[in-house]
Amino acid sequence: MPMSYPKEVRQQAILEYSEGRISISDLMRTTGCARGTIERWLNLEGITRRGRRQNYNYHCPLLSKDKLENFLVSGRYKYNEIGQLEKLCNTCGEYWPADTEFFYKDKHATTGLNAHCIPCYQEKVHQRTLESS
Ligand SMILES: [Zn+2]
Repeated sequence: MPMSYPKEVRQQAILEYSEGRISISDLMRTTGCARGTIERWLNLEGITRRGRRQNYNYHCPLLSKDKLENFLVSGRYKYNEIGQLEKLCNTCGEYWPADTEFFYKDKHATTGLNAHCIPCYQEKVHQRTLESS
């Protein structure tokens, strides 16, 4: 039964958990799944038991369906040939995989990722220190 749980509903539940709106107990109640099963789902999404995302694994921040659709329509995000989600860098204008290997995390950004890819961001910071010295 737990494994046949609809993936979309599961994703939604995980999203709500990661945003702190529901607890693991809520997840257990609504899904009827054991704590171990739920913790496995969360691990797969890179979310620790306290809802904190792990730093040592690259991950793509979870987006709500609406946000993702908006980003795809506006061109901020796109899917590449192999179905991987990519994000546009505001500086170099290129698409890179929308995860923390290519973009720094940014909890204030609606995407959860910095607007500039890591090399562009580092370049900016470097320039700023040159200008201020
Ligand atoms: Zn860039």
